[in-house]
Amino acid sequence: MSSSIDDTRLIISDAEEPTGSLVGVKCEDCNVAVFGPAKFCQSCTSDNLIDITFGSLGSLYSYTEVKVPPHGWPGEVPYILAEVALPEGPHVLAELIDIHHGDIQIGMALKLALLPVEYGTTGSTKIVYKWRPAQPSELS
Ligand SMILES: [Zn+2]
Repeated sequence: MSSSIDDTRLIISDAEEPTGSLVGVKCEDCNVAVFGPAKFCQSCTSDNLIDITFGSLGSLYSYTEVKVPPHGWPGEVPYILAEVALPEGPHVLAELIDIHHGDIQIGMALKLALLPVEYGTTGSTKIVYKWRPAQPSELS
């Protein structure tokens, strides 16, 4: 059974599909949301934080082409690293897939894509999160 690459950032609801959601915390005092774990609000330093689940849509804020990947990178090189703004506020860095360079536009709608990836030589599989262009039918 595949598991999340990082269960403080991605909760898997169905490992077969796979489906799941990005998660983080939200400050109950100032409403600022953060992707991933936090002990204190990055905006007001309150520790009055609640766990939240993000939706699966975002918009492209910025991107770059990565020619020299991090050590152990299991994917193709070069690849597009996208900074994606979630409607709830936080930005998420992940690979942008299923798109040609010429079609990339800042502000375009993106959909979370969960993919099983084999790691290392042990044959273990982890589910990673990436972004792909959203289909019109997904924008509701
Ligand atoms: Zn706060």
